[in-house]
Amino acid sequence: MWDDAAVPSFPALATDIRADLCVVGLGATGLCAILEARALGLSVVGIDATVTAGGAAGANGGILRAGLSRFHHEAVAAYGRVRASALYALTAAEIDRIATETPDAVRRSGSLRVAANDAEWGDCLAQLAAMQADGIAVEERHTPFGRGVFVPHDAVVQPILRGRSLARMAAERGAQLFEHTAALRFSTGEVKTPGGRISCDAIVIAVDGGLELLVPSLADRVRTTRLQMLATEPATDVTVPCPVSANFGFDYFQQLPDGRIALGGGRNRSFDTEWSAPAEPSDVIQAYLDGVLRDRICTNAKVTHRWGARVAYSTDGLPVLEEVSSRVWATGAYSGTGNLMGALCGRAAARMALGTDSDLHALLHQAVSASSVQASAISASPQ
Ligand SMILES: Cc1cc2nc3c(=O)[nH]c(=O)nc-3n(C[C@H](O)[C@H](O)[C@H](O)COP(=O)(O)OP(=O)(O)OC[C@H]3O[C@@H](n4cnc5c(N)ncnc54)[C@H](O)[C@@H]3O)c2cc1C
Repeated sequence: MWDDAAVPSFPALATDIRADLCVVGLGATGLCAILEARALGLSVVGIDATVTAGGAAGANGGILRAGLSRFHHEAVAAYGRVRASALYALTAAEIDRIATETPDAVRRSGSLRVAANDAEWGDCLAQLAAMQADGIAVEERHTPFGRGVFVPHDAVVQPILRGRSLARMAAERGAQLFEHTAALRFSTGEVKTPGGRISCDAIVIAVDGGLELLVPSLADRVRTTRLQMLATEPATDVTVPCPVSANFGFDYFQQLPDGRIALGGGRNRSFDTEWSAPAEPSDVIQAYLDGVLRDRICTNAKVTHRWGARVAYSTDGLPVLEEVSSRVWATGAYSGTGNLMGALCGRAAARMALGTDSDLHALLHQAVSASSVQASAISASPQ
């Protein structure tokens, strides 16, 4: 569906090698970590068990929605207003950065969250109020897909095009990239792969789905699930002007410039079958998506693609960005929304692994202060 046909290819590692930093995982997160380390002047080796953008980074809904995995009012309630707003601002700025870094892959479309019923509309109004209270541009909209909240600053990305562009940039800037090279084991200063050992000063594990398998110490806070999508032929019977999320964010769709619809969601229809499931589509979720396509988006366009991919969720809704053993940093568990947070965390993980500060790391690990709790209480009041 997303495949842009211009596939960069990198060899498998076949010898022992040395670098300042080894990055495990060549999704957008790992590639951002690599580019950051190169910008700091360090030598980098990046490896992937499959191919560049071969995981969720190349198989997602392509929505760049600023903020955390939780809608802004929920983030304010959970993390405090000051912290939630600062994290929102970082992700909003990341949209601009991604648009500059890979302009061919990004469309500035805005994004819409619609309500299916009165209860969800109440939640949309709470989101709207919390965003307005923090000075975030947001509008109430009545659309053919329902009433909702429109955020003009949001965007969409062609995820494989972006992933492959980042890989080319990383290679051009001197990183050594290896595909079909799985990290079998890692310990401080060394990553073992089937074809050779990588000796390094620091390691960044940039794997979203399956993170807790690679780093078992995270298993009490991180859990992998499958997310599913479908895509259609160009639809001529409907116009979707911007990406839409519905059903409390569980469902999401967008229309590409050529008319094709990309639709994902339905995980809340069958949580149990999706946890730990392999990266392939299932009948139950796909049948649900068919229903959304016909009854909610109201198109008869033929379905051309169906797929599933794996991501990790965290128990507190915040991403993992931490040192899991000496000079080994892990990042992932973006709870289904890693296009922006993954890029931020990738760069931050590289900086932290190499001994440089990161504002994002400080924010994610900051205890909720009294002032932010107070601010949270303020924004929870009716406006
Ligand atoms: C269907 C779907 C729709 C989504 N929609 C959106 C959306 O619209 N907006 C949004 O923001 N987010 C969305 N997400 C989430 C987003 O795609 C991910 O959070 C993000 O892409 C994660 O990127 P990553 O580079 O961190 O990880 P990944 O893409 O998971 O990349 C990790 C890489 O590590 C490799 N790897 C794994 N184990 C090893 C190992 N042992 N050795 C070496 N390499 C290894 C994998 O092969 C993979 O290429 C969606 C996800 C899915 C699945």
